[in-house]
Amino acid sequence: MDARLDRAAELVATTGRVVAFTGAGVSTESGIPDFRSPSGLWARYDPDDFSFPNFMRSEDARRRYWAVGRELYGAIRAAQPNPAHRALVTLERLGLLDCVITQNVDDLHQRAGTDPAKVIELHGNATRVRCLGCARRYPRDEIQERLLAGEAVPACHACGGILKPLTVLFGEPMPGAAVERAEERSRAAGCFLVVGSSLAVYPAAYMPSYAKEAGARLVVVNLTPTRLDHVADVVMAGPAGAILARLVERVEARAVR
Ligand code: NAD
Repeated sequence: MDARLDRAAELVATTGRVVAFTGAGVSTESGIPDFRSPSGLWARYDPDDFSFPNFMRSEDARRRYWAVGRELYGAIRAAQPNPAHRALVTLERLGLLDCVITQNVDDLHQRAGTDPAKVIELHGNATRVRCLGCARRYPRDEIQERLLAGEAVPACHACGGILKPLTVLFGEPMPGAAVERAEERSRAAGCFLVVGSSLAVYPAAYMPSYAKEAGARLVVVNLTPTRLDHVADVVMAGPAGAILARLVERVEARAVR
């Protein structure tokens, strides 16, 4: 591992313009489960409960969605940023971070201290809710209170419309501007750093390929194999917190040399 860390630190420090691409695995050490690991969400929940067509189709589906969402949002609110999130903040302080493209909705990069302007959220953000009727926005904390007080399917107080968190459900179009910006930053990356993503969810998972095609170096940090390990310059299999902390220590050491 030491040789890989050295190599990755060299790539990060010398190419600059690091684009970090994070998935659910960057937040598992904060206590938020991912989807596909054996202890992940799919082991306990039905993916249909996160389907956009189902959400739109029936009140009953929305009731199931909010029942699951109430529990997951509780985990998100209780979570604290971990050393992996903080390592990316250090890269930013060193002037090496171009942006963070995240598939996560948990707001932990911003809460760790990454400049919100540098966070590109491909799947939205769970801390805000929008009315699909009149577009009024609500803090999710407020809706969470209503759920905890016993509302099963909260409706918009202004127009009675359907409320939906600003997260992208399965089968829902991704936010076009975020995808466009993510593609552009990926193609401009010097070093593309994948952290905690199986790279199984498209179109998000095209980003590392765009970067690689445009000449970026690719570094992968993930517990389990990903779909792009075979084209990566460095693959480090293990927990994101410890690996990123050690990687950034090495980058910092190079900076003061
Ligand atoms: P995924 O579940 O497909 O993959 C997560 C990957 O992270 C796995 O390959 C796993 O081996 C790895 N991993 C788990 N813990 C790790 C750790 N401590 N260190 C390093 N690697 C670790 O998740 P995904 O590819 O991100 O896609 C699932 C989708 O689900 C995402 O697009 C996201 O929108 C959503 N999601 C978000 C959150 C969140 O916001 N925290 C949580 C669950 C799911």
